[in-house]
Order: sequence, then C-alpha cells, then structure tokens
Amino acid sequence: RLAKADGIAIHRYSNADSRAAGQRLKLVPAIRENIACDAFNLLYQPKIDLATMQPMGCEALLRWPSDRGPVVPVMTLIEVAENSRQIAPLTRWVVQAILSQEQDWQARGLPRHMAVNISARLIQDRHFISELQGLLASSTGYFQFEFEITETALMSSRDLAIELASSLSQTGSTLAIDDFGTGYSSLAYLKDLNASILKIDKSFVTNIDDSRDNQTIVRSTIKMAHELGMQVVAEGIETAADERFLLSLGCDFGQGYHYAKPLPVDELEQWLTKFESQAQTPRHLSDLQP
Ligand code: C2E
Ligand code: MG
Ligand code: MG
Ligand code: MG
Repeated sequence: RLAKADGIAIHRYSNADSRAAGQRLKLVPAIRENIACDAFNLLYQPKIDLATMQPMGCEALLRWPSDRGPVVPVMTLIEVAENSRQIAPLTRWVVQAILSQEQDWQARGLPRHMAVNISARLIQDRHFISELQGLLASSTGYFQFEFEITETALMSSRDLAIELASSLSQTGSTLAIDDFGTGYSSLAYLKDLNASILKIDKSFVTNIDDSRDNQTIVRSTIKMAHELGMQVVAEGIETAADERFLLSLGCDFGQGYHYAKPLPVDELEQWLTKFESQAQTPRHLSDLQP
C-alpha cells in the first residue's frame, strides 16, 4: 500500500513536473517573439536619497506584456531566457528600450540615474559586454547607468566580474552589488570589484524592527560598506518604521513600496511631481531614536 501510495505521489509529481517543463518550453519562442515585436514592458521604481528625501534615480524592471498570453513572472522569464540563449538579446532589448527614451526623459526632466539588472550568465559573455559598451558609447549620455549584478553571480565568477567592472567604468557606468547578504560572501572578497553601490537584500530590510539579527547584519554591513568607500541602498522599505530604522543606521538610499511600486513612465512622472511637491523636510540623525 505504501509503495502504491508512493508510486502515485511520484507519478503525480512527475506529471506536474513535465507540465511545468512543457510550459517553459513554450516560453522559448514566445520570448523570441516578444523581443522581435518590441512587446516587453519596463517599469521604473524610484530610489530615494534618505539624507535629503529627494528621489535620486530609478531601477528598470522588466515585465511580461499583459496582452500576450498568461503573464509570466519576471524570475521565470529570466531563468528561461538564460537557459535558451536569449538572455543577451533580452538584456540588449532592455538597454535599447531605455536608450530610445533618452530624449523624452531629458525633455520631461525624468531621472538620469538608471539602474539595470544584469543576469549572472552575462558576466561570462564577452560578446555581450562589448555590444553593451557599443550601445552606451552611441548614446547621448543622458542616462547614468548603474548595472546591478547579484552577489551570488559576482562570487561565482569573480575574475570575470572584475573585468566586467573595469569595462563598465570605461563607459562611465557603475556597478552595484544586488541582493547583498543572501550569498554569504564577505565584502572583503568583493571589494576588488570597485562597485560603488551595495544593495542590501529586502529580506533583511522589510520589518527590520522585528529582528535583532537583521539589525545587526544591516548595521555592520553599512559600516563596512562605508569604510570600503561604497554607498548603500536598502531595498524593500515597506513602512515608515523600516525607513526610520534604516536612516538611523546611516543608510544612504532607500527603495520600496513605502515610496513607490515599480511604475510605468507616466505614473513615474506623476509620482515624482507629487513627491517633490510634498515639501520633504530633510531628516537628521539627531531627530531619530535608534
Ligand atoms: P531585484 O533586482 O532585487 O529587484 C527588486 C525586486 O523587489 C523587484 O521585483 C521589486 O518589484 C521588488 N520590490 C521593490 N520594493 C519592494 C518592497 O517594498 N517589498 C517587496 N516585497 N518587494 C519589493 P521584481 O520586479 O518582481 O523583480 C524580481 C527580480 O527579477 C529582480 O530582483 C531582478 O533580479 C530580476 N529582474 C527584473 N528585471 C530584470 C531585467 O531586466 N534583467 C534581469 N537580468 N533581471 C531582472
Ligand atoms: Mg536589482
Ligand atoms: Mg535587489
Ligand atoms: Mg532582491
């Protein structure tokens, strides 16, 4: 009876498994088509300078088009693109889509500081890196690009990452270490990358006042990052309490639902107008109870 129950469980599992695999397989041509038809969307999530409470830029986040079949979560999209040799064309689409808006953003006075996520796979792709350099070189230079690469990606190919960082700095772009704290590496190990920004993963930031451990981790990370000459972004600031805590720890920048969700460009513009008009009083460390 047990064996039979096991058999059924295994059977069901593998059925669901192959269904998921089949669905992923269907995504391969769908991704190709969405790139070819310029159908993907980008949303922009603002980042706030916590010392002045002014918006300082935004992060571009990819979205599956809502009118082309069931919406695919971005993590699945990236994973399938990585495994079907489409991550380079997809990322090229992202950068080109941003660059095609240069004049529009400049005319509307939208933020110049633009963070773009780069998948782990692309660190090893020299062809892509030189293509990226070419794209950036042909732009008007309105956008100041910051490329976000996850800590885990940087750890697994550190020498390539050092090369990448130096190619990026030749184009005037900078490097940010994304999702820091989830990869268990030390900052000392990553410091040769000359990354200018460290983004602390939201798992340590959201509800930080509930976790002494997270407070300790974030406090010492910020201190060490500053001593290594890096600035720190906290992602996942969801409440005023999260904001207050991060401010009291000396965090430089904040990003999260407390300020804004990732927004389409028109909503970003409205959000910026509203946020900037709400006479933001700069907060000072002395006003805060740690
Ligand atoms: P990420 O780069 O760490 O981006 C931050 C994620 O946190 C975004 O999820 C954002 O919507 C979400 N987020 C922002 N504020 C909050 C908050 O206050 N609370 C919570 N719970 N979440 C918040 P999203 O847009 O679903 O993207 C997920 C991941 O997908 C990104 O994580 C990034 O790794 C990847 N991704 C997104 N766009 C691209 C892209 O163009 N290229 C590549 N390679 N990866 C991308
Ligand atoms: Mg990111
Ligand atoms: Mg992140
Ligand atoms: Mg993250």
